[in-house]
Amino acid sequence: MDKTQFETHNLFGQGAPNDRFAQFFTGRSFLNPLTNMSAVELFAGNVTFEPGCRNNWHIHHATKGGGQVLLCIAGEGWYQQWGQPAQKLTPGSVISIPPEVKHWHGAAAQTWFSHVAIEVPGENTQTEWLERVSDEDYQALS
Ligand code: MN
Repeated sequence: MDKTQFETHNLFGQGAPNDRFAQFFTGRSFLNPLTNMSAVELFAGNVTFEPGCRNNWHIHHATKGGGQVLLCIAGEGWYQQWGQPAQKLTPGSVISIPPEVKHWHGAAAQTWFSHVAIEVPGENTQTEWLERVSDEDYQALS
């Protein structure tokens, strides 16, 4: 799927370069915040990854509640929990990531990908960013 075709599927919009989190990603990503946090205490944003882009291993910490939900929108991507095989993501895939679980998510090597990321409310929520997903490990996915 080329970029123009992808954009017709990326219904929640690409938004702006994800500069704030760029240091925790390999490749370029974009963020389009969706929720009005002056109205509701829930953050949801559409994250768009260029082909090959993924975030570092990370953990969504919380002392109560917390975690993250991914609603896959367009293209193809990957989700992997530490110690588990990676799961292929396609439009309509829903991933519930418990708090305190080490994981990463991102695009497949050959295609743009987007998911809406929902931060599950909780107490003392904080994301801990860890090591990169190595090119060797990433390129071995299929
Ligand atoms: Mn995550």
